[in-house]
Amino acid sequence: MKEDILHNLTLIHARIKNACEKSGRKTDDIKLLLATKTVSVERIKIALEHGQTLIAENKVQELKEKYEDLKDIPHENHFIGHLQTNKIKDILKYNVKCIQSLDRLELAEKLHEKLLTEKRTMDVFIQVNTSNEESKFGVDPNKAIELVRKVSNYSTLNIKGLMTIGLFSAETEKVRACFKILKKLQQDIIFENIPNITMTELSMGMSGDLETAIEEGATIVRVGTAVFGARIYPDSYYWNEEKA
Ligand SMILES: *Cc1c(COP(=O)(O)O)cnc(C)c1O
Repeated sequence: MKEDILHNLTLIHARIKNACEKSGRKTDDIKLLLATKTVSVERIKIALEHGQTLIAENKVQELKEKYEDLKDIPHENHFIGHLQTNKIKDILKYNVKCIQSLDRLELAEKLHEKLLTEKRTMDVFIQVNTSNEESKFGVDPNKAIELVRKVSNYSTLNIKGLMTIGLFSAETEKVRACFKILKKLQQDIIFENIPNITMTELSMGMSGDLETAIEEGATIVRVGTAVFGARIYPDSYYWNEEKA
């Protein structure tokens, strides 16, 4: 188990390095985030004890279950799943540094209210639906700037960038088109000069398409299966749960 994970991590770092060389980018500019949904704490610990520092969960319940076992190992925790407003109180208990999946004003508003009462702040990325699929979460690209503007008014929420899942396809050019939408949006938002935000992070690319994402400007790639192996649940279980 340990050998497999360490071997897989070596492979991923090599893939990141290759993609950086191909696109004239610096390896240091890309952060590897480990998507740990369904992964046991034993396996997560192996990664954290061997140089990895950034992990993310999709469900508050899983965050909660693993929290005690991981809290004494230095690492940074992000949230990348669909966040229901009734889970806000809970998510704030587990030392999440950044919510990458902020995709609607109602969620921002409720998060802000709760953060205010706790006198703290939260880093957020705006999640964008670049694949135009009903089944995926994320704000419509055409409405993203408006959402960024509105969220920027909440003093407790620090917008740091954008996140997308993109199309799940073997056709690289279709996947690339999604990443290009996110990059273009980042540039458009920077051009708008919106106060109190930064747009430095682009979280895009997963096990199957991280090279394309890096070529298109990703600063964070989110990798699960390529490090920890296949999951028993289909991704739809995480990506369109209770989609209204
Ligand atoms: C599961 C997940 C990933 C990682 O996907 P893999 O294909 O396993 O690398 C990335 N981002 C999100 C939002 C996820 O839910």
